[in-house]
Amino acid sequence: MSLPAKPIHLESINESFLARFHSKYIKGTLTECWEWFGTINNVTNYGAISTIIPSKGNYSAHRIMWFVTHNNVDPIPLQVLHTCDNRICVNPNHLFLGTIQDNNADKTTKGRARNGSTILTEQQVEEILTELASEAAPTQQELANKYGVSRPTISHIAEKTHWKHLSKDIKIPKWGVRLNENMVIEIKAKFNNGESVANLAIEYNVDRHSISNIIHGRTWKC
Ligand SMILES: [Zn+2]
Repeated sequence: MSLPAKPIHLESINESFLARFHSKYIKGTLTECWEWFGTINNVTNYGAISTIIPSKGNYSAHRIMWFVTHNNVDPIPLQVLHTCDNRICVNPNHLFLGTIQDNNADKTTKGRARNGSTILTEQQVEEILTELASEAAPTQQELANKYGVSRPTISHIAEKTHWKHLSKDIKIPKWGVRLNENMVIEIKAKFNNGESVANLAIEYNVDRHSISNIIHGRTWKC
Protein backbone atom coordinates (compact mmCIF):
# COMPACT_ATOMS: atom_id res chain seq x y z
CA MET A 1 0.00 0.00 0.00
CA SER A 2 1.16 3.49 -0.72
CA LEU A 3 2.32 5.80 1.98
CA PRO A 4 0.69 9.21 2.27
CA ALA A 5 2.53 11.84 0.27
CA LYS A 6 4.98 14.12 1.99
CA PRO A 7 4.72 17.90 1.63
CA ILE A 8 7.43 19.54 -0.46
CA HIS A 9 9.01 22.44 1.36
CA LEU A 10 9.61 25.34 -0.98
CA GLU A 11 12.66 26.46 0.97
CA SER A 12 14.30 23.13 0.26
CA ILE A 13 14.10 23.60 -3.51
CA ASN A 14 17.06 25.78 -4.30
CA GLU A 15 19.37 25.93 -7.30
CA SER A 16 21.88 23.39 -6.07
CA PHE A 17 19.08 20.97 -5.23
CA LEU A 18 17.63 21.38 -8.69
CA ALA A 19 21.02 20.94 -10.35
CA ARG A 20 21.47 17.70 -8.41
CA PHE A 21 17.95 16.60 -9.30
CA HIS A 22 18.36 17.22 -13.02
CA SER A 23 21.72 15.40 -13.10
CA LYS A 24 20.15 12.12 -12.00
CA TYR A 25 18.25 11.22 -15.14
CA ILE A 26 18.70 11.56 -18.87
CA LYS A 27 15.96 13.35 -20.71
CA GLY A 28 14.55 11.09 -23.42
CA THR A 29 11.64 11.51 -25.81
CA LEU A 30 8.02 12.08 -24.76
CA THR A 31 7.26 8.37 -24.82
CA GLU A 32 10.45 6.97 -23.30
CA CYS A 33 10.84 6.42 -19.59
CA TRP A 34 13.43 8.76 -18.13
CA GLU A 35 14.86 6.46 -15.53
CA TRP A 36 16.23 7.85 -12.32
CA PHE A 37 19.72 6.66 -11.60
CA GLY A 38 20.06 8.24 -8.20
CA THR A 39 19.06 6.51 -4.99
CA ILE A 40 16.05 4.22 -5.02
CA ASN A 41 13.94 4.05 -1.88
CA ASN A 42 13.97 0.40 -0.91
CA VAL A 43 10.54 0.58 0.68
CA THR A 44 8.62 2.40 -2.04
CA ASN A 45 10.92 1.54 -4.99
CA TYR A 46 10.60 5.13 -6.18
CA GLY A 47 13.58 7.27 -7.11
CA ALA A 48 14.60 9.37 -4.11
CA ILE A 49 16.57 12.54 -3.56
CA SER A 50 17.76 13.92 -0.25
CA THR A 51 16.63 17.41 0.64
CA ILE A 52 18.97 20.16 1.71
CA ILE A 53 17.17 20.15 5.05
CA PRO A 54 18.41 16.98 6.72
CA SER A 55 15.42 16.73 9.06
CA LYS A 56 13.08 16.52 6.07
CA GLY A 57 14.60 13.30 4.75
CA ASN A 58 14.11 12.34 1.11
CA TYR A 59 11.64 13.36 -1.53
CA SER A 60 10.36 11.03 -4.22
CA ALA A 61 12.04 12.00 -7.48
CA HIS A 62 8.87 11.73 -9.57
CA ARG A 63 7.01 14.06 -7.18
CA ILE A 64 9.76 16.63 -7.53
CA MET A 65 9.47 16.31 -11.31
CA TRP A 66 5.76 16.98 -11.04
CA PHE A 67 6.43 19.95 -8.79
CA VAL A 68 9.03 21.59 -11.03
CA THR A 69 6.99 21.04 -14.19
CA HIS A 70 3.80 22.44 -12.66
CA ASN A 71 4.83 25.91 -11.50
CA ASN A 72 6.13 24.63 -8.18
CA VAL A 73 2.72 23.40 -7.10
CA ASP A 74 2.85 20.71 -4.45
CA PRO A 75 0.17 18.17 -5.39
CA ILE A 76 -0.33 17.11 -1.76
CA PRO A 77 -2.49 15.35 -0.63
CA LEU A 78 -2.69 13.80 -4.10
CA GLN A 79 -0.28 11.12 -5.22
CA VAL A 80 1.79 11.35 -8.38
CA LEU A 81 1.13 8.17 -10.36
CA HIS A 82 2.82 6.62 -13.38
CA THR A 83 1.06 5.74 -16.62
CA CYS A 84 4.10 3.59 -17.48
CA ASP A 85 4.12 1.60 -14.23
CA ASN A 86 7.85 2.25 -13.94
CA ARG A 87 8.49 3.63 -10.49
CA ILE A 88 11.91 5.04 -11.28
CA CYS A 89 10.62 6.97 -14.30
CA VAL A 90 10.60 10.76 -13.98
CA ASN A 91 9.33 11.61 -17.47
CA PRO A 92 6.72 14.29 -16.66
CA ASN A 93 4.61 13.01 -19.57
CA HIS A 94 4.18 9.70 -17.73
CA LEU A 95 2.97 11.25 -14.51
CA PHE A 96 -0.57 12.01 -13.44
CA LEU A 97 -2.29 12.84 -10.19
CA GLY A 98 -4.56 10.54 -8.25
CA THR A 99 -5.68 9.78 -4.75
CA ILE A 100 -3.98 7.25 -2.53
CA GLN A 101 -6.95 4.94 -3.26
CA ASP A 102 -6.38 5.35 -7.01
CA ASN A 103 -2.74 4.46 -6.51
CA ASN A 104 -3.53 1.32 -4.54
CA ALA A 105 -6.25 0.31 -7.00
CA ASP A 106 -3.85 0.93 -9.88
CA LYS A 107 -1.23 -1.28 -8.26
CA THR A 108 -3.67 -4.08 -7.59
CA THR A 109 -4.84 -4.03 -11.21
CA LYS A 110 -1.28 -4.11 -12.35
CA GLY A 111 -0.60 -7.09 -10.10
CA ARG A 112 2.00 -5.62 -7.84
CA ALA A 113 0.07 -4.95 -4.70
CA ARG A 114 3.03 -5.19 -2.34
CA ASN A 115 6.02 -3.99 -4.30
CA GLY A 116 7.57 -3.99 -7.72
CA SER A 117 9.08 -7.43 -7.28
CA THR A 118 6.08 -9.47 -6.29
CA ILE A 119 4.96 -10.05 -9.83
CA LEU A 120 7.66 -12.73 -10.13
CA THR A 121 7.96 -15.82 -8.00
CA GLU A 122 11.25 -16.63 -6.28
CA GLN A 123 11.70 -19.55 -8.62
CA GLN A 124 11.35 -17.29 -11.65
CA VAL A 125 13.83 -14.82 -10.19
CA GLU A 126 16.29 -17.68 -9.67
CA GLU A 127 15.85 -18.69 -13.30
CA ILE A 128 16.39 -15.10 -14.43
CA LEU A 129 19.53 -14.84 -12.31
CA THR A 130 20.88 -18.05 -13.83
CA GLU A 131 20.24 -16.67 -17.29
CA LEU A 132 21.80 -13.31 -16.45
CA ALA A 133 24.92 -15.00 -15.10
CA SER A 134 25.35 -17.38 -18.00
CA GLU A 135 27.95 -17.00 -20.76
CA ALA A 136 25.36 -16.38 -23.45
CA ALA A 137 23.08 -14.19 -21.37
CA PRO A 138 19.98 -12.92 -23.16
CA THR A 139 19.40 -9.17 -23.12
CA GLN A 140 17.35 -7.69 -20.31
CA GLN A 141 14.66 -6.86 -22.85
CA GLU A 142 14.50 -10.49 -23.97
CA LEU A 143 14.15 -11.62 -20.38
CA ALA A 144 11.50 -8.99 -19.75
CA ASN A 145 9.51 -10.26 -22.73
CA LYS A 146 9.96 -13.87 -21.72
CA TYR A 147 8.69 -13.31 -18.16
CA GLY A 148 6.09 -10.68 -19.02
CA VAL A 149 7.61 -7.96 -16.85
CA SER A 150 9.10 -4.55 -17.60
CA ARG A 151 12.76 -4.20 -18.43
CA PRO A 152 13.41 -2.16 -15.25
CA THR A 153 12.15 -5.14 -13.24
CA ILE A 154 14.91 -7.22 -14.83
CA SER A 155 17.43 -4.40 -14.28
CA HIS A 156 16.57 -4.32 -10.61
CA ILE A 157 17.30 -8.02 -10.36
CA ALA A 158 20.54 -7.69 -12.33
CA GLU A 159 21.71 -4.73 -10.30
CA LYS A 160 20.65 -6.44 -7.10
CA THR A 161 18.37 -3.64 -5.97
CA HIS A 162 15.53 -6.17 -5.71
CA TRP A 163 15.59 -9.80 -4.61
CA LYS A 164 18.98 -9.37 -2.97
CA HIS A 165 18.54 -12.46 -0.84
CA LEU A 166 18.50 -14.58 -3.99
CA SER A 167 21.23 -12.80 -5.90
CA LYS A 168 23.83 -12.12 -3.24
CA ASP A 169 26.04 -15.11 -4.13
CA ILE A 170 25.57 -14.86 -7.88
CA LYS A 171 28.07 -13.05 -10.06
CA ILE A 172 26.30 -11.13 -12.80
CA PRO A 173 28.49 -9.52 -15.46
CA LYS A 174 28.18 -5.73 -15.35
CA TRP A 175 26.27 -4.04 -18.09
CA GLY A 176 28.40 -3.00 -20.98
CA VAL A 177 31.14 -5.61 -20.68
CA ARG A 178 29.76 -7.55 -23.60
CA LEU A 179 30.23 -4.72 -26.07
CA ASN A 180 32.89 -5.16 -28.72
CA GLU A 181 34.36 -2.78 -31.24
CA ASN A 182 31.90 -3.71 -33.99
CA MET A 183 28.98 -3.07 -31.71
CA VAL A 184 30.43 0.31 -30.74
CA ILE A 185 30.75 1.26 -34.41
CA GLU A 186 27.15 0.20 -34.98
CA ILE A 187 25.96 2.16 -31.95
CA LYS A 188 27.63 5.33 -33.23
CA ALA A 189 26.17 4.83 -36.70
CA LYS A 190 22.67 4.20 -35.39
CA PHE A 191 22.87 7.22 -33.11
CA ASN A 192 23.95 9.37 -36.06
CA ASN A 193 20.92 8.05 -37.94
CA GLY A 194 18.64 9.33 -35.24
CA GLU A 195 18.26 6.36 -32.87
CA SER A 196 17.81 7.47 -29.26
CA VAL A 197 20.24 6.77 -26.43
CA ALA A 198 17.46 4.99 -24.53
CA ASN A 199 16.64 2.65 -27.40
CA LEU A 200 20.29 1.89 -28.01
CA ALA A 201 20.73 1.08 -24.33
CA ILE A 202 17.87 -1.40 -24.56
CA GLU A 203 19.06 -2.89 -27.83
CA TYR A 204 22.62 -3.45 -26.59
CA ASN A 205 21.68 -4.30 -23.03
CA VAL A 206 23.81 -1.61 -21.45
CA ASP A 207 22.93 1.42 -19.38
CA ARG A 208 22.36 4.81 -20.95
CA HIS A 209 25.58 6.20 -19.55
CA SER A 210 27.58 3.60 -21.43
CA ILE A 211 25.86 4.63 -24.65
CA SER A 212 26.27 8.30 -23.92
CA ASN A 213 29.97 7.78 -23.07
CA ILE A 214 30.50 5.99 -26.37
CA ILE A 215 28.74 8.71 -28.34
CA HIS A 216 30.71 11.46 -26.65
CA GLY A 217 33.99 9.62 -27.13
CA ARG A 218 34.63 9.19 -23.42
CA THR A 219 35.01 5.43 -23.85
CA TRP A 220 35.75 3.25 -26.84
CA LYS A 221 37.62 5.88 -28.82
CA CYS A 222 37.52 3.82 -32.01
ZN1 LIG B 1 7.81 6.20 -17.81
